[in-house]
This record gives sequence, structure tokens and C-alpha cells, in this order.
Amino acid sequence: MRNTKQRQVVLDILRNTDTHPTADWVYEQARKVLPNISLGTVYRVLGRLQEEGLVVQLDVGSRKSRFDGKPGQHQHIVCERCGRVADVPDVIDHIASERVQNLTGYRVHAHRVEWIGVCPECHNAQP
Ligand SMILES: [Zn+2]
Ligand SMILES: [Zn+2]
Repeated sequence: MRNTKQRQVVLDILRNTDTHPTADWVYEQARKVLPNISLGTVYRVLGRLQEEGLVVQLDVGSRKSRFDGKPGQHQHIVCERCGRVADVPDVIDHIASERVQNLTGYRVHAHRVEWIGVCPECHNAQP
């Protein structure tokens, strides 16, 4: 019962954000709903959700692992300053796959693409 509640809270947090947060951030949010939840529990719940395929742990080369509650393959863009991760619209996926297929003659089944740049907030903070 308790586990189910914790699980639901963590899953809701991830599904309601597109910031691909770290476990620490998820923990801060979860504490607002479940004041007694521990960081260890958040990690355990995240691990279980990952095993079930509901959550993906992103490997985007940032210092801390980030988690994605959006199912299905999609591309990400990473800010090289603050580490923020955003989704790249699916239309880019389709266009890129088609072009690669046309240019190489390969039948494209999957791809691993990561975009790197500076997010609008960091860009605007530039003097
Ligand atoms: Zn940034
Ligand atoms: Zn994503």
C-alpha cells in the first residue's frame, strides 16, 4: 500500500515535467506530498520503474543521472552550461530518419542522437 503510493507519486512527478530531473529534484517534489519519504526510497522506486520500462535513465554525460517519464524513443538536447535536458520534437526524428535512409540506402530502424547546445535561459543570462 505504502509502496504503491510512493510509486504513484514518483511516477506522477516524472510524467508532469519535461525537465528530465535528477533524483534529488524528484525527491524534493515527492517530499511535498509524502513528507516522510527518503532519498533512498526515491532511488529504489526509480530503479523499479526503470525495470518496468516506465521510466528511462538518461545518459547525457551530465554529472548526475536524469530521469525521463516520457515513454518511447525520442531525441534530447542537452545544455552544456546547466545540464538541463529537453525533448526534441518527434518531427525532427522522422525527417532525419528519412533523409539518412535516402542518403545511405540503409533501412533505418533506430538511432541514437544527442543534441548539445546552450538553453534559452543560459543564453539569455549571457552578458
Ligand atoms: Zn542551460
Ligand atoms: Zn525526454
